[in-house]
Order: sequence, then structure tokens, then C-alpha cells
Amino acid sequence: MSGEALFPTYARYPLALVKGEGSWLWDDTGKKYLDFMSGLAVTNLGHAPQAIKEALIAQLDQVWHVSNLFRIPGQEEAAELLVQHTCADAVFFCNSGAEANEGAIKLARRYFQKVKGEHRYEIITFNQSFHGRTLATLTATGQDKVKEGFLPLPEGFVTVPMHDLAAVENAIGDHTAAVMLELVQAEGGVLPVKPEFVHDLSKLCRDKGILLILDEVQTGMGRTGKLFAHEHYGIQPDIFTAAKGLGSGFPVGAILAKEHLREAFTPGSHATTFGGTPLASAVVKATVQEIAGKRLSDRAAGAASYLTGQLREKLAGNPWVKQIRGLGLLIGIECGGPVSDVIATMRERGLLVVPAGPNVVRLLPNLLVSNEEIDQAVGIISAVLKEKTVTLSK
Ligand SMILES: *Cc1c(COP(=O)(O)O)cnc(C)c1O
Repeated sequence: MSGEALFPTYARYPLALVKGEGSWLWDDTGKKYLDFMSGLAVTNLGHAPQAIKEALIAQLDQVWHVSNLFRIPGQEEAAELLVQHTCADAVFFCNSGAEANEGAIKLARRYFQKVKGEHRYEIITFNQSFHGRTLATLTATGQDKVKEGFLPLPEGFVTVPMHDLAAVENAIGDHTAAVMLELVQAEGGVLPVKPEFVHDLSKLCRDKGILLILDEVQTGMGRTGKLFAHEHYGIQPDIFTAAKGLGSGFPVGAILAKEHLREAFTPGSHATTFGGTPLASAVVKATVQEIAGKRLSDRAAGAASYLTGQLREKLAGNPWVKQIRGLGLLIGIECGGPVSDVIATMRERGLLVVPAGPNVVRLLPNLLVSNEEIDQAVGIISAVLKEKTVTLSK
């Protein structure tokens, strides 16, 4: 086996992880790894969480898939739970973050064109953002590398610099439908958006009568210390999206929106075969019950403050470490150069982390990570980053 039958779209690490439990993964030689990437913010409850596993197994014994042409009781319950625990009033289930964002863009366009009778379609996004790999979402993404070789791109997107309200204002015109952003630009380098800018932007959207869409695909489901990151800012988006942590490892996504958007998605206007199937819904329901019901976002906030405190203490004085930043358990360590080699060394020493852009080490432990596990991870991180400064000074 070599993977030669696959497209070479991923520069894969030379490692096959075949078993997982809690914060730990094992490769096919039996070597154990501490997982501080969580499948990229997916396994927020750790690997093979008992409650989700039980819900999935119970559903496997009932029915796996029925068409959305029928009522799906588990899907209705999952949506009700999300509505109970968030500012959203209506939910559409799909299968991925890109599909959720694509759907959010469609919802914004359709709201104006069908409900308001205005020919608005344009979406304003930000430099360094990441919104997915479909044609519309890669066009929305404020990074050129995802667009190379895929021209022509769809119309109706404009990208402006972050934290520049005047640029947003200038970009708003007769055709603007919405502003879309992540509250922490995760793939872009773990760049938190300043609260003041978030407030100003939310107010600007309201004043101009356009929609605010938040991409919470990575920041959602307890990751930042709140169920959804926008709760930190006291604002309510018109539309927000979820995916990654929503299914604990089962592929799901969701568009969540306020009441006024409901009538934009009339029967037949939007659909997806696998969205909210009985299996997917059982997993989403159990995941929301665990994270929201048990207030695991509070637990994540506690773990985050311990982890960032330890990082600040143990990395203090390391000249190669430029900044430690983030929100909750979405943390970036910005370094003085490319981090791929230090990440490889950490992996060899049994710690899995992931880059965010070339110079940032990104940490995404699960929400239940223990202080002992944090101590182990910080020990490896500080040792490897210290050795890096020694190599550099030679
Ligand atoms: C991962 C991610 C996406 C894309 O999600 P997929 O499930 O890979 O399509 C979109 N937006 C953000 C902020 C993400 O982190």
C-alpha cells in the first residue's frame, strides 16, 4: 500500500493513525501520540467519546438513511437543541463546512432576491480568511493560494483588509448582500478579530440593511470557550455556520439563521441528499447535548487559561517565539520562521499539532483535555522550540 491510487492533493505526514481514545492516538506500529490537533478542530470531545458512540450504535440498530422528503424526528430534535442553545431560529443540515458556507451565501442572496425583492448578491469577505474549497467559498476566501488554477471564479465577492471599517463601508454598494467573516481567522494564522471591530461591523451591517454572516466552522462547538464564538462579543449574526466539531468526527455541517431568513428557503430552494440523515442527526444531537448540556465550553475556557498560562511561562524569553494568541482552545504560537520542521520534531516526540500559515504552530486540543496532558504537551513544545533557538544560533 502506498496511496498511489489517490490524487496527491495532500502532502501527508508519513504516519497512519489507526486507533484513538480521548486525547490519544496510536499509529500502526503501536506508537502513542498526544493529540493537540483534534483532526483539525473536529474531535472536540476527544476520540471515540462514549455518549456519542452509544447514540450512533443505538441509531445503527434503527435506520441509517431516509430521504429528506420525509420527516426525520432526530433531525427535528437536533435542530431544536441548537435553536435552544444559540441565537438561531432555523437550521439547515448539510455535510461539511464548505457546504454550510456555500449554503449561507445562497441564503443571503435568496433572502434579498426573493423576500426583499432587491437584486443584492455580493458578499464582502476579509484578507487572510478561509471559507472552504467549493468554487464560491474559495472565491470568498481571502488567500490567493486556494484560487490558483481554478479560474474563472464566480462573480459577487469582494475582499477587504481586516480591521478597516472604512474599507468595508467603501465596498458596500447597491448589490451588497452580506459581510462574512471568522471571528478568529484560524487557517489564516490564528488571528483573532478585535472586539471593537466586530461591534462596529455588526452595527454597520444593521445600519446599511445588509446581513452579517459568521463562519463558525472552526470556532464553534465550544472551541473558543463559548458554544459559539460570537457569544464573546454580545452580537447576534443573521446567519452563522457550523461543521467540524458539530459531529464529533461524523461528517456534518449546518447553516443557522435568525427568524427573518426562514422564508427565503422555501420548499425546493435548497437541498442536499445526506443532510441531517438519521445517523448524522443522532450524532449531532448527542454532541450538542454533551457540549451545551454539560457546559463543556466553560471547561474549555478553564483548560485554555491553564494552557496559555503554561505556554507563556515556559516559552518566556525564547527569542524565536514572537507571539502566543488565540481564543479559548484555538491557540497559535507565532514563530520567527517556518514551523514545519519543529512540528515534525514534536510529532516524532509524540505530540500532534498543526501549522496555521507558514510561521504559526496551532494548538487545538479537545475540550476535555486534562492539566497533566497539557503539561506533557507544553513540555514537548518548549523543549523543541528551545532546541530550535540553539540550532539557529549556531
Ligand atoms: C475548515 C473550515 C472550512 C471548511 O470546512 P470543510 O468541512 O473542510 O469544507 C470553512 N471555514 C472555516 C473557518 C474552516 O476552518
